[in-house]
Amino acid sequence: MPESDLITVKNLTKHFPLGGGLFAKPGAWVKAVNGVSFNVRKGESFGIVGESGCGKTTLGQMIVRLLEPTGGQIFFKGSDITHLNRSMLRPFRQKLQIIFQDPYSSLDPRMTVVSIVTEPLFAQGKPSKDRRRQVAADLMEKVGLRPDDLNKFPHEFSGGQRQRIGIARALCVRPELIVADEPVSALDVSIQAQVINLLGDLKEAFDLSYVFISHDISVVEHITDRIAVMYLGAIVEIAPTGQFISNRHHPYSAALLEAIPQPDPHHRIRPVAMEGDVPNPIDPPPGCPFHPRCPHAFDRCRTDKPELTHIIDEHAVACWLNDGQGIIK
Ligand code: SF4
Repeated sequence: MPESDLITVKNLTKHFPLGGGLFAKPGAWVKAVNGVSFNVRKGESFGIVGESGCGKTTLGQMIVRLLEPTGGQIFFKGSDITHLNRSMLRPFRQKLQIIFQDPYSSLDPRMTVVSIVTEPLFAQGKPSKDRRRQVAADLMEKVGLRPDDLNKFPHEFSGGQRQRIGIARALCVRPELIVADEPVSALDVSIQAQVINLLGDLKEAFDLSYVFISHDISVVEHITDRIAVMYLGAIVEIAPTGQFISNRHHPYSAALLEAIPQPDPHHRIRPVAMEGDVPNPIDPPPGCPFHPRCPHAFDRCRTDKPELTHIIDEHAVACWLNDGQGIIK
């Protein structure tokens, strides 16, 4: 495992039993994540994109150990943290923080900002009141909020300001990696760029690495060094961001990219047909999981599953049409 790797994920899976308790359907599982492997290097921003239900949020929550994996391994700086118990996990947990999608439900409405932002400090022992105020005021400034507002409650802030409070809370214990799960999708478009720029500035200031999860490639492309595309619980393409944007290989990646609205009315591209919804993860289709929606599917796609295969340097794709030249033009 290279020393530059901050996080390494090997063959990670998460299967949820269908139903619960007495009414659980025997043998039926929702296969949310199915054998995902990748690494995130120190200082890197790694993007995970895909439609709703592709397993990207479940994957992010496993990385910070909010969810227990069904199988596979998670390494932080070479240490296997997959099955550490609560107390053994504590020093690692401070290094791995998460920013949630919804800035409304992720902040306790009964707590003041100073309590919310400094809550993670209690994992290091009981901090004094003065220290909490000092840490919170400093972080408020760093995320572009007024330190004078420490005693306010979440409902007194706008959506964008609440997301900044969530970011300040994640930074409180000086993490090395932040998993940002759709951090701007609940915000007005006018605010999204501000929060993305803030995350970019904080990366430098706090020497951070990110796992940036989004359904929207146009958000991720501006802040990531590499992008992984997930479909039905698996990575179907992974590449450096620039290379991915200019020379994506998987038909699903092409469809996601070409779904991005273009501001230039003269910009004409041939849209890639993608019909139907994501298949049911309880009963995924045989062969390539994308074949029921793929405009290029042929016989082999319906029976044999393509594995993620390197085509050049760090670019890998799971598609039988992969010829190393880029298949969708
Ligand atoms: Fe489409 Fe076949 Fe490639 Fe799957 S393997 S993405 S169905 S062409």
